[in-house]
Amino acid sequence: MSEARVQIVEDERIVALDLKTSLEALGFTVVGVCASEQDALETARTQSPDVVLMDINLGVGGDGTRAARRIHEELALPVIFLTAYAEQETLARAQQSLPYGYVLKPYELRELVATIRMALVRHASERARYRAEERLRLATEAAAIGVWEWDAANDRFEVEGPLEPLLGGEDGPLARGFEALVGRFHEAYREALRGLATDLDELHLRASMNDAEGETRNVELNARGWHDAAGGRRRIVAAMRDVTERTRDEQRLRMADVVYRTLSEGVAILDAHQHVQSVNPAFTRLTGFSLEDVKGLHPDRFLHQQAHGPGFWDAVRRAPERHWQGEVRCLTANGQSFPALQHVSAADDADAPDFHYVLSFSDISDLREAQAQLQHLAHHDPLTGLANRHFFVERLDSELQRVERYGGQLALMFIDLDGFKLVNDSLGHAEGDRLLRTIGNRLRQALRRSDLAARFGGDEFVVVVPMLEHVEDCATLAEKLLQAVSEPIPLSTQRVTVSASIGIAVFPENGKTPESLIQAADSAMYSAKSRGRSRYAFYSSGMARAAVERMRIEQCLRRAILEHSMRIQWQPLVALGSNRVTGFEALARWPASMPPAVDPDRFIAVAEDSGLIVPLGLQILHEACTQGAAWLAAGMQIDRIAVNVSARQLASGRFVQEVGAVLQDTGYPASRLELEITESTIQVIEDSQRQLDALKSLGVSLAIDDFGTGFSSLSLLKHLPIDRLKIDRSFVRDMPHDDNDIAIARAIIAMSHSLGLQITAEGIETETQARFLHELGCDGGQGFHFSRPLSAQDASSLVDRKGH
Ligand code: C2E
Ligand code: MG
Ligand code: MG
Repeated sequence: MSEARVQIVEDERIVALDLKTSLEALGFTVVGVCASEQDALETARTQSPDVVLMDINLGVGGDGTRAARRIHEELALPVIFLTAYAEQETLARAQQSLPYGYVLKPYELRELVATIRMALVRHASERARYRAEERLRLATEAAAIGVWEWDAANDRFEVEGPLEPLLGGEDGPLARGFEALVGRFHEAYREALRGLATDLDELHLRASMNDAEGETRNVELNARGWHDAAGGRRRIVAAMRDVTERTRDEQRLRMADVVYRTLSEGVAILDAHQHVQSVNPAFTRLTGFSLEDVKGLHPDRFLHQQAHGPGFWDAVRRAPERHWQGEVRCLTANGQSFPALQHVSAADDADAPDFHYVLSFSDISDLREAQAQLQHLAHHDPLTGLANRHFFVERLDSELQRVERYGGQLALMFIDLDGFKLVNDSLGHAEGDRLLRTIGNRLRQALRRSDLAARFGGDEFVVVVPMLEHVEDCATLAEKLLQAVSEPIPLSTQRVTVSASIGIAVFPENGKTPESLIQAADSAMYSAKSRGRSRYAFYSSGMARAAVERMRIEQCLRRAILEHSMRIQWQPLVALGSNRVTGFEALARWPASMPPAVDPDRFIAVAEDSGLIVPLGLQILHEACTQGAAWLAAGMQIDRIAVNVSARQLASGRFVQEVGAVLQDTGYPASRLELEITESTIQVIEDSQRQLDALKSLGVSLAIDDFGTGFSSLSLLKHLPIDRLKIDRSFVRDMPHDDNDIAIARAIIAMSHSLGLQITAEGIETETQARFLHELGCDGGQGFHFSRPLSAQDASSLVDRKGH
């Protein structure tokens, strides 16, 4: 082991040489011999000796104490003075450089070597301590830890490290004593801190306090308190650091964790290879998969019904927004699938070694269902669940395109219920709705899956038959539908029976667009209706004309009602046998101002369909009673005036009241008014009994018109307050040749006698018929044989006047 490296500073060359030789003989290495202050400093810098032997008086070379001071300050090397001077003033100067030894010349070599060794040992230990302190300082600095030490003796602090931002500088609490420091802390911690100043040995705190700016900060404080062995004074050392940021981060993490655990969305954390690392409770709730089930698995293996493409995950990782959102189908543990809105986010920097994805999703089944429901609502009639007009036309359009492209035929059926308005008016809308729902169901059941039925509103239904082999098949289907509709329908209080009229139009013959086909089927439906109910009809070109004509009639009727221009003709009612005119039936006639004229059968049917019959019928009743009153006032002998009443008038609910008002208004006697109601009306109107009773109580008489064409049972008649039956002219027409008709007429007459009813035969055109009917026991008659319907003036000439 070699001895230390020594630098000699000595201006006397002989002394220097001797010293060098002696030291080298003892194994030291002399790294330089210098004679001046300047040289000494230079050599010390370049050679870094272990120790410097320094003469104080360097003569022209300068002052050794000054050189020693600079070597100590700059290089922290140990210096031993070697000098002949020992007086106060020199010693004082030498002290300032904190020398490691002071040896007087002439020296004893052994003493000098011992001094050198002591100096080396002391220097080594000082260096070690210095290094340790330095390490501690750097460490506390790096960890941003500040250290303070408090001494109870003077209530003062010593401070190390970055405490200024927290506690302030010279005006801070550390300059003002322990209580000032305690006061900076939140109340909750003050007690514990004060304990340190008395008997608490150790304190570890995470506390909040006000910083130099008055802001609340979080600090971590680790302190020790003890009684100084020497004086028994209380002392404290504490390390403190600002952990506000860390506390905030921890808080954020805690909150994120709460969110993660309580979120309604399912969340899975995936590693860089998209293997599941953790899942939240919602994930398990939504999918049925626990973490144990899926840890380490790729979500494509168990969650996604369809895997994302190969580049997907990397694309998300590299994408500028580092995020993907979209709809996927997810699977549950028991294999069910549900639609989900999924988010995939890159949680870290794309190149981070410990990269993660966050996958989250919510179950959107409810949303999808609601959308489907909306879609359904938008496309379907809420009452029957059939398609609505909009959706139907859309489908029809695409079916037409298909048929046009691939050939084939397509049929459209327009279905209108007969008698629905009557049910609706008389039994109320709730019952009407119930009826429509039933019809809707029956249509659905009667159709094939490929057919589509829709409700166009009101009692109009439409069916498209997109795959039609033969046009005749349509007829079969129409029959089937008619049958289905006409089954009795149970409503809440009673059963009703309605029928339907069906119009059929075929593509491409009858129309090429949805509109034209619907129009054609509609026309055909009217044609079916006008030929009698519960029928179907195929479209023919004449029907379009009929439809146009129908519209004209309806418009004219509206105008006629406004203008009161509907006219009445009067057909005499005759007593068979005597041929006396006993009264007249009022028959509505087309206004002369609106040519060409339209037959009553036709315009009455339109008026009934459109509901115009209600105001129109009332006008005619009013006018007929006015005329009747005028005739009576003129002294004409009239037993009765007969006025026809439509089922819809009766069903309107106001009819009885209106009749009363008309009688009152015109002054025409109720006893001479006869209301003619068709047989079918009585069948359709459920509470006809009550209505008829009410009419009867006004004093009017009631006749059943066109009797024999409906299905009235005789027992029904027994309960109704009827005065007269009018045998329909279809039974009279072929008399007296048709035995069947005769048998029916005979039965009707016999029955009406037994029920005490009067009877009138309609449509008598010959003398033979009149006589024959009279012989059968019929007391009244009406027909061209006696007179066609006449103007009021012509009619009045047929009647006897009082006194004539
Ligand atoms: P209806 O009540 O049965 O009236 C009798 C119909 O038979 C009248 O036809 C009349 O002109 C016709 N007629 C009378 N005698 C003969 C005959 O000997 N031979 C033939 N072939 N026909 C004869 P019109 O005037 O065309 O009326 C048709 C139907 O229109 C009426 O049948 C009635 O149901 C209805 N109607 C007419 N006016 C009104 C009205 O003001 N209100 C309502 N609700 N219906 C009316
Ligand atoms: Mg009549
Ligand atoms: Mg009649």
